[in-house]
Amino acid sequence: MNCPICQDDNTQSIKMVILGGSSTNNGKAVGVDLNLDVGIAKLSSTSQTKLAALLDPGVEPTDNSGCANWGCGGSLAVIGIIILAIDGGELGGILLLAGLIWTGYGLAKKSSVDEKLSIRVKTWEAKKKLSENGWICHKCGHTWMP
Ligand SMILES: [Zn+2]
Repeated sequence: MNCPICQDDNTQSIKMVILGGSSTNNGKAVGVDLNLDVGIAKLSSTSQTKLAALLDPGVEPTDNSGCANWGCGGSLAVIGIIILAIDGGELGGILLLAGLIWTGYGLAKKSSVDEKLSIRVKTWEAKKKLSENGWICHKCGHTWMP
């Protein structure tokens, strides 16, 4: 397959690059242009291994923030409601209030975490697609999907 940009035939499917398959890399500088903001800097020099590492999407990013804050806050609020219902004292009210504040804080934090995660997932999906169907030109570094 010829590169759509420079017409060179020194191209390779990205799948084979990642698998470490037959390399046609002649050691020239490769700039990876994914046409998507994947945050890959152009390399002044590269090796097949480095290139494979760059193009490899890796595992799907997941939310690893552990115990969701809003869940913990919610539990505290529920405990507050129960105590309030049982003895109607101050403790229940304080716990309820603290739980609600905690929940609100947790929800706000969670939405920003979710936003960041969705960007990471989108980036990963783009790389994954490219790694499965894309080609790379070893002459000019262009990547594309035929
Ligand atoms: Zn090219």
